[in-house]
Amino acid sequence: MTEERIITILQQIVGEDRATADDAEMIAYSRDQHYMFNKPMIPNYVVKPINKGQIKQILSLANRHRIPIVPLAQGVNIRGLCIPTEGGIILDMRNMNQIKEINLEMMTATIEPGVSVGQLVAACRKLGVRPAIPGSPATVSAFANYMLRGVYHSNPLDGIDHVLCMEIMLPTGETIKTGSSAITTSYGPYCRWFGPDLTGLFQGVPGAFGIIVEMTVKLYDFPEESRFLGYGFDTWEKATEFAMEVQRRVIPNLMWLIDWLALTVVSGMFKRKDIMEKSTKASMPHCTVPVLIEGEKDLVDFKLNRLKQILEKVPPDRQPLTDIDTAIQQPESGGTGQGMSSEEFLGGRNVAGMLKMGYYFALAFFHPLKTGPELFKIFKDVGEDNGFDRDIVSFVSTPTATGANNWSGQCTYSEGELFVDQTEPGMMDKLRKFSTQSIQKILDAKLIYSWFRPYAQVLEITLDRAGATGLFLRKLKNLIDPNNIMNPGKFL
Ligand SMILES: Cc1cc2nc3c(=O)[nH]c(=O)nc-3n(C[C@H](O)[C@H](O)[C@H](O)COP(=O)(O)OP(=O)(O)OC[C@H]3O[C@@H](n4cnc5c(N)ncnc54)[C@H](O)[C@@H]3O)c2cc1C
Repeated sequence: MTEERIITILQQIVGEDRATADDAEMIAYSRDQHYMFNKPMIPNYVVKPINKGQIKQILSLANRHRIPIVPLAQGVNIRGLCIPTEGGIILDMRNMNQIKEINLEMMTATIEPGVSVGQLVAACRKLGVRPAIPGSPATVSAFANYMLRGVYHSNPLDGIDHVLCMEIMLPTGETIKTGSSAITTSYGPYCRWFGPDLTGLFQGVPGAFGIIVEMTVKLYDFPEESRFLGYGFDTWEKATEFAMEVQRRVIPNLMWLIDWLALTVVSGMFKRKDIMEKSTKASMPHCTVPVLIEGEKDLVDFKLNRLKQILEKVPPDRQPLTDIDTAIQQPESGGTGQGMSSEEFLGGRNVAGMLKMGYYFALAFFHPLKTGPELFKIFKDVGEDNGFDRDIVSFVSTPTATGANNWSGQCTYSEGELFVDQTEPGMMDKLRKFSTQSIQKILDAKLIYSWFRPYAQVLEITLDRAGATGLFLRKLKNLIDPNNIMNPGKFL
């Protein structure tokens, strides 16, 4: 079938102004912030459905004619996840942004793909509840984030699994429901399924198994009491020793290990030129450890008491920032006077600080907290081998909470980071080498569990190490998407 015929059919499905094959419009979908790692590619068509019926027809057309189809929820995601590597249809679902239900009895929200984090937070807040809030800009799709199992820096104690039920359209024509919504006569989409976890099967898969069209997610209460404290350490090893105790005994809602550079960048504390001054580094603790403790007042007091005991055992090297909100707002107490609250710092909305530094490169993964110092050293070594100053190789960890939803022991989310000026000649080549070598070395050293997301840069090399499991995943993909039309080149 000709391209003209296909765009005509697409326009018949969604309306003339919601489907285009015009290069001038489609070019916006051809690249993202990681264009140097993921080759830009213009799609053949962009379609903006407004309901499930339209999606079903588009999917059926794509499957019949073997046209690749790339679901896009908000398109903020980085690392090429929505770049049409093999051309085809971009299915832009930003107009499907209804919150269908907020159920305070069940503590759930049922949402469409285009619902943004900001939109969901605002709607929940009016009713006195909150969703899990990722550390991303508030413009990203909450739906895509929960589907991809994000990280929730504002409260890792919530865990990473917030999805109860999904409705999914498969390229083969079936529409399936997961969790309790699968049973037509069930009470509702408020619970997991009694058999295999089909919801989990479709999580962490960047649009490669089907199009998820509706999702019911968990909501949470606001705490009665909240304390946000911070401590400074001169070595990563000592900060780790402290954090391991806190992680196991205090079970904080949130803890970070953040190196001096990342703290200055994320918090927007200094100007770019000042960050590069050696005196700035000297004025900062090598590793700052903010700790958030929330809950009922009695529980918070109990945890603060445990924290006090740990502080006696592993005393910080720098005077604690007794209360990070105060410290950041008042220069005389060690802060910047920039008026940044912990909410801004932890809500991840302050990307301006990162952008001020130019390009933000990060490799993100899960590992036991104790391997952090070795991992940080690998990043610095690889950085130095590739011509980067050791001081601008940065590291951030968010240890998760023992026993919390999906976490065990010392499981920790971390990022090795570089803040560079991408306009410098040769910089992107250096960065690509840094990325490839870091991935290899980290895997060879057996220090991590897995990567944060199935990004193209890490996927192939990791699947090669997954043996029979990797092969099984490929078989599964073939079963679900026999014509390989779902976001090809991104997952399997
Ligand atoms: C500066 C910055 C900081 C960030 N920090 C964090 C953080 O701290 N924690 C965190 O969790 N995330 C973080 N992120 C990532 C962010 O959360 C993701 O971008 C978000 O989860 C999804 O982005 P999106 O809404 O733009 O999805 P999209 O880019 O639209 O989609 C993401 C992937 O999901 C697929 N997809 C989308 N919708 C569907 C659907 N309906 N069915 C099937 N597949 C679909 C797409 O094909 C794509 O592969 C950060 C991103 C940025 C830019």
